[in-house]
Amino acid sequence: MINFQYSKASDVADAVRQIAADPNAKFIAGGTNLIDLMKEDVERPMRLVDITHLPLKSVEETPSGGVKIGALVPNSDVAYHPLIERRYPMVASAILAGASAQLRNMASTGGNLMQRTRCAYFYDTATPCNKRKPGSGCSAIDGLNRIHAILGASESCIATHPSDMCVALAALDAAVHVTGPAGDRTIAMTDFHRLPGSTPERDTNLDPREIVTAIELPASGFATNCTYLKIRDRLSYAFALVSVAAALELDGGTIREARLALGGVAHKPWRDTSAEAALRGQAANEASFARAADLMLRDARGYAHNAFKIDLARRAIVRALTQAAQATPQVQSIKKIA
Ligand SMILES: Cc1cc2nc3c(=O)[nH]c(=O)nc-3n(C[C@H](O)[C@H](O)[C@H](O)COP(=O)(O)OP(=O)(O)OC[C@H]3O[C@@H](n4cnc5c(N)ncnc54)[C@H](O)[C@@H]3O)c2cc1C
Ligand code: SF4
Repeated sequence: MINFQYSKASDVADAVRQIAADPNAKFIAGGTNLIDLMKEDVERPMRLVDITHLPLKSVEETPSGGVKIGALVPNSDVAYHPLIERRYPMVASAILAGASAQLRNMASTGGNLMQRTRCAYFYDTATPCNKRKPGSGCSAIDGLNRIHAILGASESCIATHPSDMCVALAALDAAVHVTGPAGDRTIAMTDFHRLPGSTPERDTNLDPREIVTAIELPASGFATNCTYLKIRDRLSYAFALVSVAAALELDGGTIREARLALGGVAHKPWRDTSAEAALRGQAANEASFARAADLMLRDARGYAHNAFKIDLARRAIVRALTQAAQATPQVQSIKKIA
């Protein structure tokens, strides 16, 4: 047992003060990821700053027509919120495709953004891992890499980001509101997570002294023609091998606007605006979707055990875009469990 101190933050300013005062402190929200990492000795915070009492628990419409989700709104409350179900069904669907009902009840919006990779070597402290211990090496590159990245990887790390919700948020151009010692700022969702490069220990562009306070969704939720398709080893309680957030605006059979992001394939939700541009003005048919998939995967590279993901991703993109065009999204028949 490694001792650590525990304190409660009384408001956002106090949370920032506490985290900035102690480089070995970490925020704790639902604890569904951080506590596991502490039990496995992967993370060793000397202080936990409990943020669960902060007033960041509302889902509200913004003056610009969007919706702002507080960082402490539980994942299930986001997924079942009437505004999200009606205006952003792709976000609701992505959240419900993740974890289990019990976990979604505990997990917070901010914690979902900040959850760490599921690379098995990252959790196994007996093996080298540049993300856990910079400079020690990457066990996955020549090891078991079935679940690892096919896009944007580096010689230092080929891990993937595990969140489902973040893939839908990236596709919809969401923004992340944060507060730190220098004040408030907003980070585009697509810039929030990083590629591994030579610093895989850094998952995000959040300063360690900053707190996520909210996510903001823009006015357009592509509610009519969207889908979140998650391909995984079993139907629930499994992370994505490949997932696709696909959203279209159609003018008859022609694509006016398109959004496409992939999960389970890179160190961050993978959005490629050139694939979206290639869809605009095209007929909403399989040939256009296949061209977009080829563009999206043009730089994909497989390793010993995960090359299958390239073809899987290609087929998943075509299927997700087809479902989005037909307005037949994935059915999420999971009912809320209190
Ligand atoms: C068995 C299992 C299966 C899962 N399956 C899926 C899945 O299929 N898809 C999926 O997307 N997720 C899945 N998850 C992950 C789950 O969604 C995350 O664990 C959860 O979202 C984390 O939220 P939390 O509030 O519990 O975070 P915590 O564990 O409390 O914190 C996680 C990290 O976020 C930081 N943090 C928390 N809040 C803030 C904030 N406001 N500002 C700054 N930093 C903050 C903490 O310091 C910590 O580093 C699964 C988890 C488990 C245990
Ligand atoms: S892929 Fe990344 S997280 Fe996994 S062992 Fe390599 S460095 Fe560590």
